[in-house]
Amino acid sequence: MVKTGSSVPSCPEGAHEALLSWFSQNARTMPWREDPTSYRVWLSEIMLQQTRIEAAMPYYLRFVKELPDVAALASVEDGVLMKLWQGLGYYSRARNLKKTAQILMQDFGGNLPADVEALRKLPGIGEYTAGAIASISFGLPEPAVDGNVLRVYMRLVACTEDVMAQKTRRAVAEALRRSYPSGEAAGRLTQAWMELGETVCVPNGTPKCEICPLQGLCGAFRCGHPERYPVRTPAKARRAEERTVFLLCCDGKIALRRRPENGLLAGLWEFPNESGYRDEEAVRCWALSQGITVLDVVAAEKSRHIFSHIEWNMEGWLIRCATCSENFTWATPAQIRGEYAVPSAFRTWKNRLESLVGYLN
Ligand code: SF4
Repeated sequence: MVKTGSSVPSCPEGAHEALLSWFSQNARTMPWREDPTSYRVWLSEIMLQQTRIEAAMPYYLRFVKELPDVAALASVEDGVLMKLWQGLGYYSRARNLKKTAQILMQDFGGNLPADVEALRKLPGIGEYTAGAIASISFGLPEPAVDGNVLRVYMRLVACTEDVMAQKTRRAVAEALRRSYPSGEAAGRLTQAWMELGETVCVPNGTPKCEICPLQGLCGAFRCGHPERYPVRTPAKARRAEERTVFLLCCDGKIALRRRPENGLLAGLWEFPNESGYRDEEAVRCWALSQGITVLDVVAAEKSRHIFSHIEWNMEGWLIRCATCSENFTWATPAQIRGEYAVPSAFRTWKNRLESLVGYLN
C-alpha cells in the first residue's frame, strides 16, 4: 500500500468503484437526496452534525417548508429560527446558517458558491460541509470526511494513527481527493462513504464485514480484528459542574432570563440558575438579592445535562413569589412552550411547567 506523505496510506485501487456500485443498490431514501440543491444539502449536513438521520428528518422538513431558500433564511426573525432549531442543540449553528444566508444574499446573488475555498470561508461551513456541498450539489472532486468516513477509511487501510488528530483527518481527505471523480459520481461517492459508515462499517460493536463491498480490499478485515480500528487517544474527562435552577412562580407565570450573546447556549432563554448547590436558606437569600418577596420554597427535581466538554448537575427549587420582579421576563407555561427557545438542558422542568405552577398555587 502506498504512503501519502503522512503515515496514512493511500486509498486502495478499486475502492471507489466498489463503493459506487454498492451505493446504487443500497442508497436509502432521504428527503434531502430527492432535490439536492446546495441550500438543501447545506442545511441537511448542518443538521446531521447535530443528530441521527431519523431524528433530523422532521426538523429538516419543517425547516425547508418554513424557509425554502437562502432569501427566506436570511430574513427570518431570530425567534422563529430558534424555534425551528429547538431540540437540535448547538444553537450557534442555527445563527451561523442565518449569518451565512445574509452573506450569500449580499455577495453571491443568494446562492452558495460552486467553489470549495469560497465555501470554507462562510460562517459555520468547515472542511467537511464544504466538501459535501461541493461534491453533492456541484459535482466537484472533493471528499467530505466526517467521523463515519474517517472510521471506514482507517479500517480499510488498517492505519494506527490517532483518528482524533486533525492531521489524520487532513491526510485522509488528501488521500481520498487524489482519486476522487468529478460530476455526478462525486456526489454519489461522498454519500456512499457516509452511508457505508452509517449502515455497514458501524462505530460501536462489530462492523458488518460479511456484507461490505470493501471486504476484499480491507486491511482491518484481513487482520481479523476490524473492531480494533480506528485507534484513538483517550478523550479528556468532561468537566462536571453543580448548578442550582430557580423556578420562580408568580400569578401562574414562571421567570425566564436571556443568556449572554456569547458562550454556551448563547442568547437562549433559561430558568434563572447559578453555579453551585444551595440549601433552602441560601435559595431564599438568592431570591431576596433579586428583589423577590418569597412566599414559599420547595425542592424540585434534579437533572443532568451533558454538553460536549461540560456536564451540568442541576438541583431545582420551586419558589413562589409575592410579586413578579422586573429582573426577569415572566411567561405562562403555554407561552414558554410556544414563544421562547428554552434549550433541552432545562427539559426536566420545562416538560411539567403546569404542574409546577399548580403545585404552588
Ligand atoms: Fe469496515 Fe469490515 Fe468493510 Fe473493512 S470489511 S470497511 S472493517 S465493514
